[in-house]
Amino acid sequence: MAAICAGVLALQGSVEPHLRALSRCGVDPIELRRPDQLDQITHLVLPGGESTTLHHLLQLHSLSSQIPQRVATGQLALLGTCAGAILMGRECQESPPRWNLIDVEFQRNGFGRQVHSFIEPIEWIAGPDLGTSEGIFIRAPRIGVSSPAVEVLATLGSEAVAVRQDRCVACTFHPELTGDDRVHQWFLRL
Ligand code: GLN
Repeated sequence: MAAICAGVLALQGSVEPHLRALSRCGVDPIELRRPDQLDQITHLVLPGGESTTLHHLLQLHSLSSQIPQRVATGQLALLGTCAGAILMGRECQESPPRWNLIDVEFQRNGFGRQVHSFIEPIEWIAGPDLGTSEGIFIRAPRIGVSSPAVEVLATLGSEAVAVRQDRCVACTFHPELTGDDRVHQWFLRL
């Protein structure tokens, strides 16, 4: 197996907590800001933040087509959290444009505005299979229409909140803010 080299997209948002989580998993993550750095990594985290801003910054840094291309050719595994997850989803009416890497629609701010952010237990049913863990939802997207190609990893009540398609994983919450690194550990094995 190729050596695991991880990076965090470091243009905007919750970058530092992901860097710390990956470091605690024993990898020495890079802060990704340039396309040439993609050659160095096998695993990339797209942090939460603001998905329209992330989209514009990705374009400015010539990364918006390079990242999905690498995923499509099997060179890169992706973990997207919140705004990062939104980018990975199925193209829909809402901005920003989506990468169609995971065949689900993410509805932005689907649980309400900032004041409706919340912490609730979530249930893992596959993937890292953590049983119950803490779900931190900050202006989180909601998962709408989803195809059978998509595996549900975790639920909040009857709703999917973490999903996977091939080597792409999307969480609508923030695993990097809990101090529990098992989602990152599992992702690094994909
Ligand atoms: N609501 C934000 C968006 O639509 C995402 C929020 C987050 O990443 N915590 O981009």
